[in-house]
Amino acid sequence: MAKTIIVSNRLPVKISKTDNEYMLSTSEGGLATGLGSIYKQGDNKWIGWPGIEIDEKEDQDNVSAQLAKLSLEPVFLNQEEINQYYEGFSNDVLWPVFHYYVSTYSVYKQSNWDYYQAVNKKFAEAVLKIAEPGDVIWIHDYQLLLLPALIRKELPDVSIGFFQHIPFPSNELFRLIPWRKELLEGMLGADLIGFHTFDDVRHFLGAVTRVLPVNASANVLTVDERLVVAESFPMGIDNEKYASLPLQKGVLEQKALIKETFKNSKLILSIDRLDYSKGILQRLQAFEQLLQQHPEYCEKVTLYMIVVPSRDSVPQYAHLREEIDKRVGNINALYRKMDWTPIHYYYRSFPIEMLSALYSSADVCLVTPLRDGMNLVSKEYVASRVNDDGVLILSEMAGASKELIDAVIVNPNNSGEVCNAIIEAINMPLDEQKRRMKQMRQLVSKFNITHWVKVFMDKLKEVKQMQRSMQ
Ligand code: UDP
Repeated sequence: MAKTIIVSNRLPVKISKTDNEYMLSTSEGGLATGLGSIYKQGDNKWIGWPGIEIDEKEDQDNVSAQLAKLSLEPVFLNQEEINQYYEGFSNDVLWPVFHYYVSTYSVYKQSNWDYYQAVNKKFAEAVLKIAEPGDVIWIHDYQLLLLPALIRKELPDVSIGFFQHIPFPSNELFRLIPWRKELLEGMLGADLIGFHTFDDVRHFLGAVTRVLPVNASANVLTVDERLVVAESFPMGIDNEKYASLPLQKGVLEQKALIKETFKNSKLILSIDRLDYSKGILQRLQAFEQLLQQHPEYCEKVTLYMIVVPSRDSVPQYAHLREEIDKRVGNINALYRKMDWTPIHYYYRSFPIEMLSALYSSADVCLVTPLRDGMNLVSKEYVASRVNDDGVLILSEMAGASKELIDAVIVNPNNSGEVCNAIIEAINMPLDEQKRRMKQMRQLVSKFNITHWVKVFMDKLKEVKQMQRSMQ
């Protein structure tokens, strides 16, 4: 009986160590929920790094046994592999280039690349240990670009799907990477290559046809006489969860508290992970511009800004955090009144009930990344608006802007435009808010995470059938 294997850099678990014991808790993230319908069935498996360094063989066996009960299969990484494959190549080369963050001073270290190749091989070995002809393998994201071809070489007939969760940049940026050819060859081991948007597909096809001797007819490539399809599959969220949470007792209580606290001002919500691609400093600049140039809005608007800690041991990220701290401090010091603070800033993560209370209370959600593959926060805000009110301001550089066209769309680099969008949003008549929100809610509800998984898997089957009919 054929099985399905999911592969991603991280397993959907959190493992913590207490004394000599390893404790597991499963992740409730959207992807884990969506793929839950797959990897928990029958002999299916999810392969990935458990997110913690475990060196002792005995401990590895112990954790593996616990993971096996959840249909999860670990790939253990040592500290040097984490530093070079994960931090070095994935996060310091691929992440910035794919998010259009290229500096003349970018460093492309050979050792990072060597480790990237070696760890992709390690993942391939883990997959090949359990994969058999006829199986379906779905690989996720930019840490594993070489994996599709490594598996294809050993098991030519398996179905391989690959999905990239971050943008694919224009070839003018992609070609800067010294190992561009090898990266594309790695991806082309898949039968179906998915991206969030059509622009990403176009960029990928442009890179493939320029860098490699491969022909494309529309979105179908011919690689060693095998058809490979590249297509967009905009990822959705667990809509039901976000639409039902605001009606839960605990969330209703939190909402009442938020309402009381901010009863005299409009509440603008901003939620991101700490990352330079999220445009947090530019957003603060636009908000300051509003207070400076339109003093009539002082005391009338409050920015509730959550930044979720991420990689703040890396100097670049630590620096960004300091800059955010400084800007928020300056704005609050300059504009605060006895009973009004312009920015309520939190550098931590929140439980989903609190996020839901905030999503469903905020008059405006301000989502202005400089570049984002999709951006799920914008969709979670929409799904939470059970009364169809509220306004979403959304960066045109977020993949979600291709679907949520009823948002107020802005260029995140244009602080004047973002400032005006905030004014438009807080003054938007209720019927206009509802007209826009209803459209967006329908879309988010229909194209949810379950739909995304189904459409991708159906297409992978179809590509396999196309290949067979060509033989
Ligand atoms: N999120 C979270 N805890 C928080 C704040 C946010 O788990 O305290 C979640 C949020 O609900 C969303 C995800 O983090 O699902 C962020 O996803 P997005 O696509 O917006 O950005 P990414 O961080 O993946 O670049």
